[in-house]
Amino acid sequence: MRWRTVLLTTGLVLGLSAAPANAAEPVIVDSTKHGGRTVSFTFDDGPNPADTPRLLAILRQHHVKAVFCLWGDFVVENPDVVRQIVRGGHILCNHSMHHDNMGEWTPEQIEADLKQTSEAIRDAVPGVPIRYFRAPYGSWGQTPQVAAKLGMTPLGWKLAIGDWEPPGVDELVRRVKEGLTEGAVVLMHDGPNERGQTVDAVARLIPELRADGWRFDRPARR
Ligand SMILES: [Zn+2]
Repeated sequence: MRWRTVLLTTGLVLGLSAAPANAAEPVIVDSTKHGGRTVSFTFDDGPNPADTPRLLAILRQHHVKAVFCLWGDFVVENPDVVRQIVRGGHILCNHSMHHDNMGEWTPEQIEADLKQTSEAIRDAVPGVPIRYFRAPYGSWGQTPQVAAKLGMTPLGWKLAIGDWEPPGVDELVRRVKEGLTEGAVVLMHDGPNERGQTVDAVARLIPELRADGWRFDRPARR
């Protein structure tokens, strides 16, 4: 009986020891750094000269730091908006050069695109850290491995509010408040088109969530 137990235990250990191969895969982070009643706001598909500066003003007014997942083409077009984001103390995320679906791309293709995007961002703000990468359309393919190799944490989300088809400010506020879970990374958009509703929703959500005991946090890193 004793040996059998040992064998069973050994089998279990061997079974578990297979896990680190998976654990070595880059984790797609979708939670805040500190957990508990915290939330992290992330904004994709900018910089957008129409809406990003107004969003930045609201975040500044409330002393909230957010993550901006930047689309390379718009970085090239709007370098000053990227500088405003960085001056606001926000965290940058590489969201690819042209917002292509990279799900079927080779690691070499992905690496070239991600490097080009980061270079465009650093042409606007030399030396700025780019902590995260988020795959366009959440089509991850082999992007997490490449992003990790380039020093960026793959950044997912727990809650998306569908603001790419603006449903009205009240509805956006409702979707966040009803969908929010502790430690959630929330996906919103400050581009590529008109995103005034999202900005107005954020202006209401920050004080209302704080009144409900929520704190704003940054996403975890791997
Ligand atoms: Zn996007």
